[in-house]
Amino acid sequence: MDLLNPVTAVPLIGPKNEKLLEKLSIKTVGDLINHYPFRYDDYSIVRKISALRVDEIATVIAIVEDIKLIFTKSGKRMVKATVTDETGSLAVTWFNQPYLIRTIKKGDKLSLSGKLGFFDRHRAFISPEYELVRSENTIHTGRLVPIYPETNGVSSKWLRSRINALLKILPEIEDYLPREIKRENNFCELDYAISAIHFPKNDREVMVAKKRLSFDELFLMQLKAFLRKAEWENKKESVAINVSIHRDKIDSFIKGLPFKLTNAQKRCVNEILDDLETNKPMNRLLEGDVGSGKTVVAAIAIYVSHLSKAKSLYMAPTEILANQQYLSLKKYLEPYGIKVTLITGSKKDKEEGDVTVGTHALLFKRENFDNLGLIVIDEQHRFGVGQRAELTQKTTAENAPNILTMTATPIPRSLTLTICGDLSLSIIDEMPKGRKPVKTWFVPKEKKKSSYEWIRKRIREGEQAFIICPFIEESEIETLKSVKAVKVEFEKLSKEIFPDLTLGLLHGKMKSKEKDVVITDFKNKKYHILVSTPVVEVGIDISNATIMVIEGAERFGLASLHQLRGRVGRGEKQSYCLLFTDIYQGIIAERMRAMEKYQEGIKLAEIDMQIRGPGDIYGEEQHGFMKLKIASLYNTEMVKLTRENAEEYFAKLDDYPLLKSKITEQSGNVKPN
Ligand code: ADP
Ligand code: MG
Repeated sequence: MDLLNPVTAVPLIGPKNEKLLEKLSIKTVGDLINHYPFRYDDYSIVRKISALRVDEIATVIAIVEDIKLIFTKSGKRMVKATVTDETGSLAVTWFNQPYLIRTIKKGDKLSLSGKLGFFDRHRAFISPEYELVRSENTIHTGRLVPIYPETNGVSSKWLRSRINALLKILPEIEDYLPREIKRENNFCELDYAISAIHFPKNDREVMVAKKRLSFDELFLMQLKAFLRKAEWENKKESVAINVSIHRDKIDSFIKGLPFKLTNAQKRCVNEILDDLETNKPMNRLLEGDVGSGKTVVAAIAIYVSHLSKAKSLYMAPTEILANQQYLSLKKYLEPYGIKVTLITGSKKDKEEGDVTVGTHALLFKRENFDNLGLIVIDEQHRFGVGQRAELTQKTTAENAPNILTMTATPIPRSLTLTICGDLSLSIIDEMPKGRKPVKTWFVPKEKKKSSYEWIRKRIREGEQAFIICPFIEESEIETLKSVKAVKVEFEKLSKEIFPDLTLGLLHGKMKSKEKDVVITDFKNKKYHILVSTPVVEVGIDISNATIMVIEGAERFGLASLHQLRGRVGRGEKQSYCLLFTDIYQGIIAERMRAMEKYQEGIKLAEIDMQIRGPGDIYGEEQHGFMKLKIASLYNTEMVKLTRENAEEYFAKLDDYPLLKSKITEQSGNVKPN
């Protein structure tokens, strides 16, 4: 058994599971052992039945005296058992798990973890975790029990038993970390860290394992970035553009824009021009908050490439965005005789233009672009590091294209360097003039009605609103259930609440042609309100819309709320964001307050980390950029330590063949995002 074997090599994992596991990015045996828990249920208090206390989480080990399936008065199916130990007997009930009647038998020795409560006024264990006690240690009960990132059909219990089985048969994992590093920092061995992170005996073991694995994650990530950088520098050369002979044209292009560039935009443009002037292919990341005006910077880069007769590709993450950016670029570039074409699933221009706009997915598949000088990747967080490297192969020309990657993911400069050490960085840290902060209010249940009235009033005055319904299930992919929910909400809003207004509906299961029609209609003011799932999240630009209502705001993390709010406040008019939530306490209240108080993405990202704590790495909003399994980018000490070590060891990588092969292998500890 090898870490690079497919995951089906693990006992009890078949082809069907393989598909499901892919959703968690688990493809190999190594991926599975590196699928770390994000928290543990503490079932380590083991008590005799007579010593159980009401409401305390504990474990009992007892013999099944009796087990049967019954129907409750309300018609629900319930499995009811009586278990005993030498101190007494206890009722146990499980709802909606009728199959238990087949897995648990009279006379079985069970380990049960849960809370003592009451059923039918008698003390009872209600739906506890359970496990048959064999000779070995328990894994689901009676200890710190790992809870993993899950997906439909792959529960923590399922993962736990597979990982447990795997760890038993896996030979010792080769430790690639140089001995000097381990000694200096007092790190445990890799093999120990892996078993301890999955099945720790106590909190201390978790801490020790986390320290080692966090180091590894950041260390390897940075080594890989250094490696990419070195490879990039050895690539083909790009065509150097003589910017100075085009200076006048470039200046008049910028003068011809409908607005004045901000100083930050100017600085970024100059940094890009400097890159284009050399024959080293550009590999630059342009970072700027939602609405900071990245598109026009890209348009200038495209224009300059065109002046030297090179073609450009513009890759957007979704079809909606591809369409929108296609229109923007046309507006900027066509007056200069530059032909812009579009390739998406539903639309495909016959001829290849000077600039081809399309979705990542489609453009990435295409080969042999002729005379390609520039590739712009919009919203980088949806796009893998490895893919970026492959892009340079897309051209038939002798020379490599320049690459400009853009993102709104708000991460501080030092962190960007850590994760994307191979990229040069330009930051637009200034908003266009005249932007008014979006007034943001949290709206409790009892004020919902009056805020609908308020919305109606503003719409009567000619404004437009978005109403966003959350995904029902926590999944990046829009599920049928979410679509059904948004449809129900749409019916309710259009029939009961705003029967006098026209409403449009947008969700991810619509054909992209239909989506286009709805968005264009909304732009052309055919609708007063656009009801939508969070598919409008990234990039949509409709400047007349001034109201953003987010239903179930508690289900969104700060980054998503910020993205959604960024859809309004793009014009001159005052914009508003209403956060509807019935829950106003704890983390949710803190999030709502942060939204009311701050406008900047970077500030919100910091607060998000503070609220959730670095431990919650699988929080519902994973920026692709920050897809870390265990480390926290906000642990500045660890970031610094790994950075210093990465620099030192990259220089002498040849002396550490195990480490070297670890960072060159395709699948391993750290995934390209
Ligand atoms: P993002 O950085 O989020 O991709 P966009 O490029 O979509 O932002 O720009 C947001 C809006 O701001 C667009 O409507 C664009 O025309 C406008 N814009 C960009 N730069 C400026 C500027 N310097 N002054 C005024 N408006 C600008
Ligand atoms: Mg954009």
